[in-house]
Amino acid sequence: MHVTLINPGVASGARLMRSYSGGYGDLVEETDTDQIVFPPLELLRMATVLRAQGFEIALLDLQVKPDQALPDRSDVVVSTLSMPTLDEDCASAAAFKSRLGATRLLVLTSIADQAVLDEIQARSGADTVFGPRQIEQAASLCSGTEMPAPAAYIAPDRSLIDNTCYSFSPMTDMDPGLGLVTAANASYGCPYPCGYYCPYPAAEGTKFRPVPLETLLDELKSIAALGIGGVVFRDPTFSLDMARTAELCDRMVAEGIRLAWWCETRLDRLDQELLTKMAEAGCRGIEIGVESGDPQSQAANTRKKLDLQRLVDIRAFANALGIKMQFLFIVGLPGDTRQNIINTYRFIIDCGLGTSEFNLSTITPYPGTPFYQDALDRGWFEFKPSRMTGYQANSRTDTLSLDEIATAVDLGETLRARLDAQVDAAEIGALLERMEAWAKDAPASRMPAVRVEA
Ligand code: SF4
Repeated sequence: MHVTLINPGVASGARLMRSYSGGYGDLVEETDTDQIVFPPLELLRMATVLRAQGFEIALLDLQVKPDQALPDRSDVVVSTLSMPTLDEDCASAAAFKSRLGATRLLVLTSIADQAVLDEIQARSGADTVFGPRQIEQAASLCSGTEMPAPAAYIAPDRSLIDNTCYSFSPMTDMDPGLGLVTAANASYGCPYPCGYYCPYPAAEGTKFRPVPLETLLDELKSIAALGIGGVVFRDPTFSLDMARTAELCDRMVAEGIRLAWWCETRLDRLDQELLTKMAEAGCRGIEIGVESGDPQSQAANTRKKLDLQRLVDIRAFANALGIKMQFLFIVGLPGDTRQNIINTYRFIIDCGLGTSEFNLSTITPYPGTPFYQDALDRGWFEFKPSRMTGYQANSRTDTLSLDEIATAVDLGETLRARLDAQVDAAEIGALLERMEAWAKDAPASRMPAVRVEA
């Protein structure tokens, strides 16, 4: 049986990062200066599983090679789908099936809401819409009959793709001699309560599922053997199991695996000892989900206690080891007021973060999260996939109107532009005054806050 696996291209004018936001995908403007293009890891893993089970496969990444020729025929088509390009991806999937004369069409997506999955199935004409957690059942999905799953986790085989097509400029800008870059997963799933709004637990599950250490080490060795110099780990919380992370780093050093790498984790899953091991094993950058710079908002949304001094200290320690840190904030978290958001902007200024050291995304009710259900039930937004870019205001919350979130996003962009232009302290002070005036001008009455479930 022949299976063609396709990562569809997207219309020009914007860049889609399919693996971001738990695999739901982020859409950024072409003007964004970062060059971030990852291989379609889940599709690649599925192709590797199918090949191991005796299927003939063709894998095409039309996002990076839009002119790549499709095979003449194929029995089955598997096509990926992301939230911001849902309409486009449904149409592409249907067109691939017809063009290849396939008898089965499967759509692979991280979206975890049954009503949205039903809509995708109806619009694409797919036989099955499935998620990354079902990749082990690839043979059954493709054949339409019950077939055994592989006995153990199978890592994606990057020799099936053209590794020269992928990039991650935050790391290669630090080390232009790094060469090729790929992405990988050392684990899946995240158990933290910020899953109220965060799409990772919805897409990957709330159970932490580490890739077996020996399998992961073999995967890293095979990456290095392909001449790839850098790896971006796409785990929701890379160092959730700190002891395992330390062991991974020790083994990488002991076995001479020379790769530069980047990951994302939480501040409370790092300490100086682990950071030292990570640096020795090649870590060059860590993204930290801080969410809010306002202690009250942070405690309500993530059950973490924000410690400004700890953040400043750990950043200084990591920087001294050659590890860059980027702090991730979300504008408009559930329960946030105007003042909470302005406190976050003040926090960024007080920490002295440069523009490459923080990212501001916009609260988005991702289907499959409890926040999405609340937003639908309370009539806060109309579900329009093309507006769910991760950066556009598209829903009100219990405490902020859509206009207020949009204004807060604009103020954040203004702050970023001023910091980028390296304006003097007086200009930053004037901007902060404007922000504070806006915060104090908030309407007096608000609906009660959303309860954040553990
Ligand atoms: S720790 Fe990070 S990945 Fe996990 S639920 Fe919270 S925000 Fe999402």
